[in-house]
Amino acid sequence: MPPPDRSGGPQPGANSLFFPAWPPQWPEITESILQAVHSGHWGRYRGEATEKLREKIVELIGGGHVRLVSSGSLGVELALRAAGVCPGDQVVLCGYDYPGNFRAIEILGARPLLVDADPSGFSVDPESLRQVSSDSVKAVVVSHLYGVPAKIRQLHEICDQNDWVLIEDACQTPGMHIDGRLAGAWGDVAVLSFGGSKPLTAGNGGAVLTNSDRIASKLNAHLDRPSDSTPMSELQAAALLPQLDRLDECNRIRWETYSAIVAGVDWTGQATSSCCVTESSTIYKAAFLSPRRDELIQRLRRSGLPVGPGYRSMHRSSDRRCEKSGPLDRCRQLGEQLCLLDHAALLSTGSLRSELVNLLSAAG
Ligand SMILES: *Cc1c(COP(=O)(O)O)cnc(C)c1O
Repeated sequence: MPPPDRSGGPQPGANSLFFPAWPPQWPEITESILQAVHSGHWGRYRGEATEKLREKIVELIGGGHVRLVSSGSLGVELALRAAGVCPGDQVVLCGYDYPGNFRAIEILGARPLLVDADPSGFSVDPESLRQVSSDSVKAVVVSHLYGVPAKIRQLHEICDQNDWVLIEDACQTPGMHIDGRLAGAWGDVAVLSFGGSKPLTAGNGGAVLTNSDRIASKLNAHLDRPSDSTPMSELQAAALLPQLDRLDECNRIRWETYSAIVAGVDWTGQATSSCCVTESSTIYKAAFLSPRRDELIQRLRRSGLPVGPGYRSMHRSSDRRCEKSGPLDRCRQLGEQLCLLDHAALLSTGSLRSELVNLLSAAG
């Protein structure tokens, strides 16, 4: 198997490093797409690659129903619909999350109820969720962000006790093991993304997964009209197949680079001391906290490093649009302090990895 391609264009900046190309430019992706072209399947509603991709995702997650869809964002909306979320229902989500998840809840006419983020991670804090007491809550959205697993076992228990549907957003973390189950296998319904910024990419695309026959049939009813109303194309599926084959390998490389950074760069160690990253985490973008985040990002960018801020926290969202459970201090902190190093840089190996660590050290 060839190593991840190294021919990526230079990043802007004085000391440009050549990080691995993203999207990956592996010959097997080209071959797979050409095969879909030559077979003529690219011109069908349904071809071999889409079916194979669906089967591989079922295999990866360990069973259940899988539907391929056009994006992760729409996947979350479909998951909410299939979970039976109706206008007037409340849906709990973390005040620090992918903003599209908030929008998906609003689009259904439901009302977001924001809880705080875990003080040792980036997702819903189980303590904050336990304090929610509302008869209107129908579902809880939990995202695994930047490769740090949510405390999904505890969250799952709380949802079960309250009869809330658990919607697991695993868009950033395909292939992550959490307590003996894959990310995406914990939720009553779960979502993957194959968007342009994700570790498995087709530019666009996603998947909705569920073990529940009831949720699956609701999902099918939304999608099949009788054409699939929000499909993924055969060419996208063809691009994804070889990436899925190398997912574990790439997850391992990203983890090794992340570990080298945390071990070798003082300021990242201090910044993430409270984060619960383990070897089973599949680091997506490396997340670091810094109280002087914006200056740090400027310095790192001047060194040619692909870094940027995290999401805007939703703790200040208008009370007209949502409820909030408490002041959401951790969400505010994440919104102000999170700095993300792009996942393409994490695919660095060998001397490139050492250079990356050196540059981060010097710029911090
Ligand atoms: C990217 C992302 C989404 C949306 O996926 P798209 O395919 O880009 O629409 C949803 N949730 C999380 C956590 C994401 O990172």
